[in-house]
Amino acid sequence: LDPSSERLTNPEREFEKALRPQAFEDFTGQDQVMENLKIFVKAAKLRGEALDHVLLHGPPGLGKTTLSNIIANEMGVNIKVTSGPVLDKPGDLAGLLTNLDEGDILFIDEIHRLSPLVEEYLYSAMEDFKIDILLESGPNARSVQIGLNPFTLIGATTRSGLLTSPLRARFGINSRLAYYDSKLLTSIVLRSSEILNTKITDEGAYEIARRSRGTPRIANALLRRTRDFAQIKGNGSIDTEIARFALTALNVDEHGLDEMDNKILAAIIDKFKGGPVGLKTIATAVGEDDGTIEEVYEPFLIQEGYLMRTARGREVTEAAYKHLNRLYPGKTGQ
Ligand code: ADP
Repeated sequence: LDPSSERLTNPEREFEKALRPQAFEDFTGQDQVMENLKIFVKAAKLRGEALDHVLLHGPPGLGKTTLSNIIANEMGVNIKVTSGPVLDKPGDLAGLLTNLDEGDILFIDEIHRLSPLVEEYLYSAMEDFKIDILLESGPNARSVQIGLNPFTLIGATTRSGLLTSPLRARFGINSRLAYYDSKLLTSIVLRSSEILNTKITDEGAYEIARRSRGTPRIANALLRRTRDFAQIKGNGSIDTEIARFALTALNVDEHGLDEMDNKILAAIIDKFKGGPVGLKTIATAVGEDDGTIEEVYEPFLIQEGYLMRTARGREVTEAAYKHLNRLYPGKTGQ
């Protein structure tokens, strides 16, 4: 149930596509962000101009890709999708940029992972809609500047802290997506069930929602798995009982923490006396990539009050001891 899209299988991707909202009105939550975006889109359309460049940040699975596609639909333009690690040469980027029609959107996922060379190349494209292209090679090599159609760059990142300030400064619109509360996720689960033609009670939807780590991608993935349990173990429709049964079988606990969340907390308590302990050490102890822990697991554990980030490393809270049924040793002398 890793919420990052990098590890999705093909059927999972297809499933996500089917459930992806297409218009502003189908997108649930993120009210402040949505209110602003609607105004910026409307204004750009009225002026007949490309929308300002948009930076979307926040943990994986909260709707950055979905929102970018919605913006393209609402603007009535095409969207080209790529990602930071894929663009390894300025030439790759030039190819994409020169193929954009006026007002089109270039979506770069994981924009914090652009190589410095490609990033620098992006600056003049974003600012002046111009790029330098190298003609021929060897002694005859020369570069010419060509103009681009005005376009909108939408950058998505899970790690806005890793963005350089010159790049950040080139985005006119900067929006942060936050975790969803259980009520919003319940309506997302109900909407998805309807699209999937799956019967579900409001309580069943709530049970899935409240255990989805505040993340629509996880809510939809749990719904998908729960639907299997309902079909095989029940009469095909999802109620609280089936939802509880499925979630337990999937190792999602009462508070919505999954196996890796619990593994991280347990490791800090059992191996490092509750911390403080460095991120890399935790990563080695649980056998997970440190970047993934920082982007995917840690923000939720911090938000839910199980973990703290201190100057000396990560520390668990009393709530983490309680959650794992461990005896809390009390605050040690600082
Ligand atoms: P990100 O790009 O932030 O990793 P995605 O946009 O790929 O996240 O969202 C993952 C899935 O979650 C999408 O397929 C979509 O079905 C669902 N989703 C995300 N945000 C919402 C939302 N606000 N309302 C309904 N569904 C959503």
